Amino acid sequence: MSIDSTLANRNDLESFRSLEARQQPTWPDKDELARACSTLRASAPIVVPAAADKLRERLAAVARGEAFLLQGGDCAETFAEADANRIGNKIRTILQMAVVLTHGASMPVVKMGRMAGQFAKPRSSDMETRGGIELPAYRGDMVNGFDFTDESRRPDPGRMVEGYRISSATLNVISAFTGGGFADLRRVHEWNAGFLKNPAYKRYERTAKEIDRAIRFMTACGVDFEALRTVDFFVGHEALLLDYEHSLTRIDSRSGRPYDTSAHFLWIGERTRQLDGAHVEFLSKVSNPLGVKLGPTTTPQDMVALADKLDPAREPGRLTFIARMGASKVREVLPHLLEAAKREGLAAAWATDPMHGNTITSSSGFKTRRFSDVMDEVVGFFEVHRAIGTVPGGLHMELTGDDVTEVLGGAEEIDDAGLAERYETLVDPRLNHQQSLELAFLVAEMLVG
Ligand code: PEP
Ligand code: MN
Repeated sequence: MSIDSTLANRNDLESFRSLEARQQPTWPDKDELARACSTLRASAPIVVPAAADKLRERLAAVARGEAFLLQGGDCAETFAEADANRIGNKIRTILQMAVVLTHGASMPVVKMGRMAGQFAKPRSSDMETRGGIELPAYRGDMVNGFDFTDESRRPDPGRMVEGYRISSATLNVISAFTGGGFADLRRVHEWNAGFLKNPAYKRYERTAKEIDRAIRFMTACGVDFEALRTVDFFVGHEALLLDYEHSLTRIDSRSGRPYDTSAHFLWIGERTRQLDGAHVEFLSKVSNPLGVKLGPTTTPQDMVALADKLDPAREPGRLTFIARMGASKVREVLPHLLEAAKREGLAAAWATDPMHGNTITSSSGFKTRRFSDVMDEVVGFFEVHRAIGTVPGGLHMELTGDDVTEVLGGAEEIDDAGLAERYETLVDPRLNHQQSLELAFLVAEMLVG
């Protein structure tokens, strides 16, 4: 690595500054911001470039149809809930889903959290008004507090440093769990048995029994379960706060290339994916695997232009398109995008986010989603891929490992009144533990064909 190339890369990383950056907080104190960024710049990476490369290779397998991606976690993580219990519950849910999907797909599942950095949110309005009082909207714990007071809603750059610290600690806990026997297949089997005790899930018994038989078969063959006690678990978040992402970008000493070391995977949201915007420009310069959310207004031209900018070399694993069309639009919009992707020879993997196109307000006033709509979008995503001959690569889900009541329906039939019981999310509604597993069983049935 020559020093010249390092310098060139550093200058390159500033190119986004002259472009419009949407959805950024108005930091009230520029000195505070400079101090926070300088602390982050001097801090250790959360992930190392080699680990991001490993994920890129795994995502290349997803794009080829040789692996399936499962990404899940909160809409917005919070500092207060970054405890070992809640993190463990989320990991358990994702691993349990992964076993069910691995069996259904007969393929490895790439496991990734919306975790360890998912602390910044795009909002439809900069301000929020309640009872005649107007304050800055809550933009995630890395920006301001949820409490509706002057003090709490003031964007505080120090929160980025706190978010960095909590993200590192979260990844540390994730590694301890996934490297310490938590992922043991025999244990995951017991977890599934727990799920099936609920009579509501009777219809999944057959799949669960097949998984049991497969594990017994593996045991009989002398498979080394000790070696299967650990799994790779990656993390990703929406790369929204450019001050944070830029400050954690480092030059990889092996290749001289920049990596955003805040996570293995970064995605660009539906509201910040403008081709001439700062987010696309900045992320085009880092070497991590990237995602881009594509909503129902995406044209094939937009999509191809994004691929040209973010993945000009058509490098498998570099780019994942995350379609979030809504159940009523996926069958109409997605075919045009997939046809164009096929025609242009794009290398992108495809995942479905069946959450963000299906948000409604319940009659009781909660921001919610119907489990049936979520499922219908997943089904539509598979149908469209099958019709066109492209690869339905994975799922991107908002979920939690806890027994919250935020999404309507599922076999447990959470209804309008039921939402009030345990509605805890600060932003978007998440599938609870049971609903997440139910979805995994349903998708597994589809993967079997
Ligand atoms: C999100 O993933 O929480 C989100 C805001 O999604 P989108 O960018 O697809 O609207
Ligand atoms: Mn969300």
